[in-house]
Amino acid sequence: MIKDNLRNNRPAISTDVIFGGQKLDPNNGALMTPIYANSTFIQSEPGVHQGMEYGRGDNPTRHALERCVALLEGGEDARGLGFASGLAATDTVLSLLESGDHVIAMDDLYGGTRRLFEQVRKKTSGLNFSYRNFSETSELDDLVTEKTKMIWLETPTNPMLRLVDLEVVIQNAKKHDLIVVVDNTFASPVVQRPLEWGADIVVHSLTKYLNGHSDMIGGLVVIRDGLDEIYDRLAYLLNAIGAVLGPFDAFLCLRGIKTLDVRVQRACDNAEKIVKFLSGHPKVKTIYYPGLESNKEQYTIAKKQMDRFGAMVSLDLDTDLDGAKRFLSTTKCFTLAESLGGVESLIEHPAIMTHASVPADVRAELGIHDGFVRLSVGIEDANDLINDLQQALEVI
Ligand code: PLP
Repeated sequence: MIKDNLRNNRPAISTDVIFGGQKLDPNNGALMTPIYANSTFIQSEPGVHQGMEYGRGDNPTRHALERCVALLEGGEDARGLGFASGLAATDTVLSLLESGDHVIAMDDLYGGTRRLFEQVRKKTSGLNFSYRNFSETSELDDLVTEKTKMIWLETPTNPMLRLVDLEVVIQNAKKHDLIVVVDNTFASPVVQRPLEWGADIVVHSLTKYLNGHSDMIGGLVVIRDGLDEIYDRLAYLLNAIGAVLGPFDAFLCLRGIKTLDVRVQRACDNAEKIVKFLSGHPKVKTIYYPGLESNKEQYTIAKKQMDRFGAMVSLDLDTDLDGAKRFLSTTKCFTLAESLGGVESLIEHPAIMTHASVPADVRAELGIHDGFVRLSVGIEDANDLINDLQQALEVI
């Protein structure tokens, strides 16, 4: 399949982030989308309203954000829905399925996504999940049963930063009419737009790059143009389940998105410089990063489907758990905290923190060892970040 340039007729992303999907307030021309802090809308007579009825189903601030992210990911005709968190978005997308349905998923996923699959939806909804490392193979025919309805991908994955060849895996999934969902949180639409490769649904944790300031929690789903049935069902489920994004958080995220392109570009620049510094460092056993030319297969995929290499870097340190803990407590510019994608650089230990809910044997299989740490590179001065890592590597 040739890449479908859904944003072809649009201005560049760096322009669209400013006012994309937003309209001047018709009441007074306010430049910025106001926070519509209301729960209901007036009806002139029973059942007659101006297009919006109740705040769970509709909110103008949320709708502005939904239009904006949809435009960035999938052009003019894609549509978005805003959720209370990335996991609420994920959970509601799973509600497209029926009890007994089967989902094929990338083996390396955000720990909370796997927890939701295994500990909640498997038990409460009777869904079944199979996992595969789609960075090693794009084959899935042998996993498909008559109950398989969806495939769930991350690329780059959290936390191993593995890449999936979206074009090939999506083509294979389409042979079986699967709904293709890609969690694009780690890349952001500045770096990669999975709908262009034929994905049906993109899921975001807004909490990360899109908002970018670590001051709200939110999720968003973008549905590609032409999938009216899926959009209508998800809009129905958003209202029926009710895990909606609030107007204050939608406003914050709209504000954050205005600098998405400059933030992500700068963070990607910083990550490249950090990786250069870490390469060959005697205390670093392995670097996981899509831009490593030495990893030919992954590098080829990165060049094909990513505009930059992203700003997430994972490392296997040549140390044990105590050494990793010392390293993590010694960095100063890199703050020890879960989450990613903010202006500030963060560092974490997946086995103890973000992926603690993943069973130990699965973690070991994936390569999440005691010396494994994950960096979310922010937009500080690159030399300060490098000096910080250098002094911390000395204590392990
Ligand atoms: N998807 C990915 C890749 C994530 O890293 C996260 C959270 O870290 C989520 C989804 C869940 O998002 P939220 O924390 O907004 O619920």
